[in-house]
Amino acid sequence: MLMKDILPDIIFKTPSVTELKSKLYKDKRIGVSMLRLDEIHPVISGNKIFKLYYFLDEAGNSSHKKIITFGGVFSNHLAATAFACRGMNLKSMGIVRGEKPAILSHTLQFCLDHGMELQFISRGDYKRANEKEFLDGLKKQHGECILIPEGGFSIKGKEGAALITQTFDSSSFTHVCMAVGTATTFAGIIDGSRDECEIIGFSVLKNMHDIHKRLLALEVNPSKKYSFMADYHFGGYAKKTNELISFMNGFYLQNNIPLDFVYTAKMMFGVNDLVQKNYFPPGSNILCVHTGGLQGNQSLPEGTLVF
Ligand SMILES: *Cc1c(COP(=O)(O)O)cnc(C)c1O
Repeated sequence: MLMKDILPDIIFKTPSVTELKSKLYKDKRIGVSMLRLDEIHPVISGNKIFKLYYFLDEAGNSSHKKIITFGGVFSNHLAATAFACRGMNLKSMGIVRGEKPAILSHTLQFCLDHGMELQFISRGDYKRANEKEFLDGLKKQHGECILIPEGGFSIKGKEGAALITQTFDSSSFTHVCMAVGTATTFAGIIDGSRDECEIIGFSVLKNMHDIHKRLLALEVNPSKKYSFMADYHFGGYAKKTNELISFMNGFYLQNNIPLDFVYTAKMMFGVNDLVQKNYFPPGSNILCVHTGGLQGNQSLPEGTLVF
């Protein structure tokens, strides 16, 4: 049972590439476009379904019909896993970092609504959740199952993310930009892109000093060209400033494209800042990957965004 048979509208709908119009780009004589992975599905938009691809494929082809994975209360990864498992008739369980909150986040409620069983564990235990002892305990408790690391961070997750590069024609782009959380998507796009292309990752985390270790762990092809921008995190994961929010509103008014404040807005802000600073030589043609995540905006007070 292949995922393309089960979820045909998700992964095989070719996302569009939209050219972004701006006087700044024109002045600098560069082209900037956006790969609209946010369009591939209204609910589980973006990169997450790609990272899950080979895990779901394995589940569909094996007798282990339960997927267990990990995430925080706002995890897009948990939501995508719940949704995909429901679509493929697989059981799913999410191990959630921290105590159970009195009111569930939109994300966790979505997971429950899609049949995901949730187990809350303390932050201390969560830190040990990747250790063999903990994982063996899970298998004892739940029987043989497919375990997906947090955020899909794994070689298999990377290989799924590399499929993103098959959704657009890369021959015309000199740079591909994206937001970086676990770096799984970054690694996949680095591996999947042609050698001449520079892949630029924008960290959404503060103090992400282990990027090279991460890419090494994911066995990224060392001959590829990539850069990593650590200074566009706006205070850290899911942190925001008024400047970021007004950037998102301005971007929407100009391009009619919604961004999310946790990931894609920080990437796009960073791209524009680099353009301003002449990072990109004239003639560059830049592709920015919209990795989705728009449901994250639901946690903002009403009226914050114009879209
Ligand atoms: C999860 C996520 C990312 C980061 O992906 P990683 O593979 O963990 O680096 C980027 N953008 C959005 C919208 C996401 O939900």
